[in-house]
Amino acid sequence: MKKNLGTLCIHGGWKPSKGEPQQLPIYQSTTFRYETSEQMARLFDLEDEGYFYTRLQNPTNDAVAAKIAALEGGVGAVLTSSGQAANFYAIFNICQAGDHFVTSNTIYGGTFNLFGVTMKKLGIECTFVDPDWDDERIHAAFRDNTKCFFGETISNPGGNVFDIERFARIAHSHGVPLIVDNTFATPVNCRPFEWGADIVTHSTTKYMDGHATQVGGAVVDSGRFDWDAEAGRFPGLTTPDESYHGLTYTKAFGRKAYVTKLVSQLMRDLGSIPSPQNSFLLNLGLETLHLRMPRHCENAMRVAQWLEDNPRVAWVNYCGLPSNKYYPLAQKYLPNGSCGVIAFGLKGTREDAIHFMDNLDFVSIVTHVADARTCVLHPASHTHRQLSDEQLLEAGVAPDLIRLSVGLEDVDDIIADLQQAMSKL
Ligand SMILES: *Cc1c(COP(=O)(O)O)cnc(C)c1O
Repeated sequence: MKKNLGTLCIHGGWKPSKGEPQQLPIYQSTTFRYETSEQMARLFDLEDEGYFYTRLQNPTNDAVAAKIAALEGGVGAVLTSSGQAANFYAIFNICQAGDHFVTSNTIYGGTFNLFGVTMKKLGIECTFVDPDWDDERIHAAFRDNTKCFFGETISNPGGNVFDIERFARIAHSHGVPLIVDNTFATPVNCRPFEWGADIVTHSTTKYMDGHATQVGGAVVDSGRFDWDAEAGRFPGLTTPDESYHGLTYTKAFGRKAYVTKLVSQLMRDLGSIPSPQNSFLLNLGLETLHLRMPRHCENAMRVAQWLEDNPRVAWVNYCGLPSNKYYPLAQKYLPNGSCGVIAFGLKGTREDAIHFMDNLDFVSIVTHVADARTCVLHPASHTHRQLSDEQLLEAGVAPDLIRLSVGLEDVDDIIADLQQAMSKL
């Protein structure tokens, strides 16, 4: 039976049979037993399917991955031990030394560093482009050895909205897939595959978990990119893998070629799997994702409006506000709401921002975003504290930028806490 999103949040990935646990069991086991040597040999010869070692596959991890694949509308998904690992694997699955990709420059700082510094050490180069540039400038970033385009549905921390349909068109005109990090929107508010994206990634650490209990990630395959049509560009998928019985992923696995290669090659060799315990916790979060996201958005909208009307506030960036530059794109891609994360600046100095945060009561200062508890971060004094005001502006972070992640508390209390903290300045 075809199920809607709210039903998939609860039932996706795990359907117990007679007498089996209603809640997804935690298969906290590294390995799985067989009765004869012959049975085990058949698994290694790929003549049979079955679990044998948790680095490759585990029933708890696989059930949660299947739920996320269903929520995004993909053919398959893999869970990873962090969002960083998910973005690394998503790219590394189709890029090797000597290859190149193009990425939006308004992406999460950790991803920016991974792409610009660490992947460069592996011989994979990327070009950062501003998604607000015109088509001609974006096209100019592509080269013969370009393998994909990367962007975030809603950027962290800037809150810019990515024009998925436009970038899918541009990527496809160069014969490469579009990879979209959908962490902040979640499939409740946007499903990038419906707009032409080919691969979706997540830091499940954020809204999907929603309670700050585990660090994790996911890569989802739409199954729609035609790797064989660009066979010369993607030899890892379209020519025999000698490390895997000489099989060719597109021939053997069809629409699941990309996600199967990611598990059977990258997970096998690099091994950034989540623990089954963490996947269980993530699954509990997913069971209420469809209820929590609308409340995050409703609360954030109220807070953003209150900030915009507040004389102590210099500026507010929230794509749900009609005054926002990204409002038209948000109306198109996020008609039911965007997320709970707002960026704003107070009038006054860097010190005023610090005092404001120190005055807060239950709204807490943490590095984390996107969970049930409202929290704040001041990049200038936390994540980017080594930079001067001038350097901060060059890095695209206003010295007064406060990132406010609006949680699920009573919104009147959130506003009251912000108000009392401001009134003491
Ligand atoms: C947090 C985050 C990441 C990194 O995820 P971790 O789970 O912290 O490794 C990647 N992308 C976005 C958009 C994020 O917010």
